[in-house]
Amino acid sequence: MKHFILPLIAVLAAVSCKQGQDRKEAVQAYPEQSADTVVETSEKPEVSELLSLEGIADSTFVRLADYSSDFVFDMKYATEDNFLESKVYDCAECYVRAVTARAVIEANKELMKQGYRIKFFDCYRPLDVQKKMWKIVSNPQYVADPAQGSIHNKGGAVDITLVDMEGNELDMGTGFDYFGKEGHHDYTDLPEVVLSNRKLLKTTMEKYGFKSIRTEWWHYNLVDASNAEVANFRWDCE
Ligand SMILES: [Zn+2]
Repeated sequence: MKHFILPLIAVLAAVSCKQGQDRKEAVQAYPEQSADTVVETSEKPEVSELLSLEGIADSTFVRLADYSSDFVFDMKYATEDNFLESKVYDCAECYVRAVTARAVIEANKELMKQGYRIKFFDCYRPLDVQKKMWKIVSNPQYVADPAQGSIHNKGGAVDITLVDMEGNELDMGTGFDYFGKEGHHDYTDLPEVVLSNRKLLKTTMEKYGFKSIRTEWWHYNLVDASNAEVANFRWDCE
């Protein structure tokens, strides 16, 4: 009752019966969403109500918090505390493809054994938001050109850091979205503890199928999701 799969047929039915102008407008504004299946939930579940990823197709978009209560979320683009200095998400949610969810949950389990957890800054990002970012920072070193689409638009990329069990962020040398050489993986003029924290995150993520990019210590792409379709659906904010 708290979740349902929204297949293409349901979207078409909602449009054709004209019940709900909002839904109709949303579908027209974001036609790409019809290509994607999304598991939607109306309420945040308690720990005991976590959903299972078993049997869910790899390409389905899922809300990560419905499948694990072991993550910390700090979705920066739902605030003004980001390089755009503007709130580009209506509300803070972390959606990814199910294949990405499975991998990041496994990586987090391993990190928890060592006393750490993954904290998210960004997950799936609608293509329209990518276009907004590209207008502000048209540098492919930091923002993917929306003409090609980012792996974030495909539900296969995550921007993350590590926190301890009390939620304190580990020192990674720079903040999230620090666009300078100190944020690069190949910049090593940093304290030993920073290099070791970055290495722990990188080696663990790589073990579970993610790849880093040279210029952002916080960004990881799931290799298995790199060929997924670019998407543009917006999650519900109720
Ligand atoms: Zn990223």
